[in-house]
Amino acid sequence: MSEPQASSQDVTETEIRYRGLAVSRGVAVGPLRFQGQPFQRPRRWPITEVEVQGEETRFEEALRRTRGQIEQLQEQLLKTDGNHAEARVFDAHLLVLEDQTVISDVRKRLHKDRFNVESIYYEVIRRYVESLKAITDPYLRERAVDIEDVAGRVLVALADADDNTAMQQSPRVLFADDLAPSDTVGMDRSLLLGFATRLGSFTSHTAIMARALGIPGVVGLKIPPGTLRAGREVILDGFNGILITDPTEETLEEYRKLAEQQDVLNQRLDQLRAEPAETHDGARVVLSANIEFGHEVDAIMRRGADGVGLYRTEFFYYEQDRHPDEEQQTAAYSAVAEKVGDAGVIIRTLDVGADKFQTADGRLAEKNPFLGWRGIRVSLQETELFKTQLRACLRASARGNVRLMYPMISGVEELVAANGLLEECQAELRREGVPFDEDMEVGCMIELPSAVMVAPELAKEVDFFSVGTNDLIQYTIAVDRVNERVADLYQPGHPAILRLLEMVVEAAHDADIWVGVCGEMAGDPLFTPVLVGLGVDELSVGPSQILRVKHALRQLDSLECEVMVKELLRLPTVEEVMNRCRALAKERYGEFYQ
Ligand code: PEP
Ligand code: MG
Repeated sequence: MSEPQASSQDVTETEIRYRGLAVSRGVAVGPLRFQGQPFQRPRRWPITEVEVQGEETRFEEALRRTRGQIEQLQEQLLKTDGNHAEARVFDAHLLVLEDQTVISDVRKRLHKDRFNVESIYYEVIRRYVESLKAITDPYLRERAVDIEDVAGRVLVALADADDNTAMQQSPRVLFADDLAPSDTVGMDRSLLLGFATRLGSFTSHTAIMARALGIPGVVGLKIPPGTLRAGREVILDGFNGILITDPTEETLEEYRKLAEQQDVLNQRLDQLRAEPAETHDGARVVLSANIEFGHEVDAIMRRGADGVGLYRTEFFYYEQDRHPDEEQQTAAYSAVAEKVGDAGVIIRTLDVGADKFQTADGRLAEKNPFLGWRGIRVSLQETELFKTQLRACLRASARGNVRLMYPMISGVEELVAANGLLEECQAELRREGVPFDEDMEVGCMIELPSAVMVAPELAKEVDFFSVGTNDLIQYTIAVDRVNERVADLYQPGHPAILRLLEMVVEAAHDADIWVGVCGEMAGDPLFTPVLVGLGVDELSVGPSQILRVKHALRQLDSLECEVMVKELLRLPTVEEVMNRCRALAKERYGEFYQ
């Protein structure tokens, strides 16, 4: 996709272009909305004298929570961005939040007028803002924006809810500091045109979610707080990582053309749905899809996926903060298994921790969460929780083609321990007379360099490997996968990654087991020739990438890929590897890169 003219912040007559990192392809045009309520009049109701105290407490609690939120965001900006100027803006926000005149005004009115505290707070703030807006001094007028921004956060804290009510109305481009998967769960997805966030990276879950939904996504946008206005028209360019506010007619026209080109390409790709995922010379690759929610199965099957290669099971935790019971899990896994049919589903056991999910009691809050208590480490300690999930997977295996795999395996002991617990569950179910597939395949993810080094030994314990390149890259290159500051170091084409992949494939094939790749690398057509050339048997990709990867595969020749990989494995730098990958991809499916 050609890049429209843009600098980090180009100003034409009206429009402003902000740059970030493109994480999900496509263009969205529509009004901007914030996750979290902008400053809007809340509902008003009378309260009695005895309720005043309770309202004061609610107010204090909301101020406390808002403070925590602002401080956390400030800390994150400093840590991941080193952006002191931007972080200082939040100092001003904290001053607004703690303005004693406002606080005492609200208290006085609570006692005197006796209405719910949000309506009183809103009125107090509105008056301040109006008097500031009446002043011609641009600096003071800007402060009005800060005050509205902070007050909006307080109102959300008082409502104790996300912006889901406002989300119900019309399609919008959603802007947020960051989006946790839990933020998007309750939203009506048909109204979401795109995601734009201040934080995040290519493999953060905002990005994965945007790609799963097939909507444009741009993260890491450097936009000072208070600059954007809800309701203003924007263009979100998920090809080039740009958010354009108040676009001119000329820019809109430019993007309309881009969208048309894209539609033509998508129509071409759609025709491949029923075609096999094979190279030009007939080498078949299993092309499956990654899902997080059961309802995604329909869409991936419509796009012709060979089943589900990675079913992330953290989703329960986004929707509720207690552990899902065996029945709930069995029902969810069985539903997916039944829908995918023979193609099958690979259920990955719980991978909580790191960026995925934090318990409400903060037990998972750690200094180094990616190196801490996550994935299989949690499961092997919380064995009841783990066994509940294993039993549910086994029970679902009686209803369809189910495979199971463990995340974050670092060595043989963990794998043996996990398999031991699985055997316990199998024995229990046999005793209880509950049916399950005695031959259910079990695999492990290869996401740590240590797992690669002992892959020959791990291969003896499992039926397959699935390489999680998202984590393998971060742990090999020591680059935090969600830190936009080091995003340029996060390189799937790093020679070390290619060599590790070669070792994994060799270990698997020597042990006569199959090997897949389910990290985001598998969905990037630039690397399709590399993975084919290495002899990877399965590619499990984000739903929006199925047809793109299938198209790439069908333009490639497997022998040529093998020859190229041999060359790549001798190259010393990322740049040389990427130049070769780009050259071949452009030659064979240049339409992706126009
Ligand atoms: C990976 O690490 O590549 C992977 C697929 O798992 P996740 O992105 O869920 O950590
Ligand atoms: Mg992983």
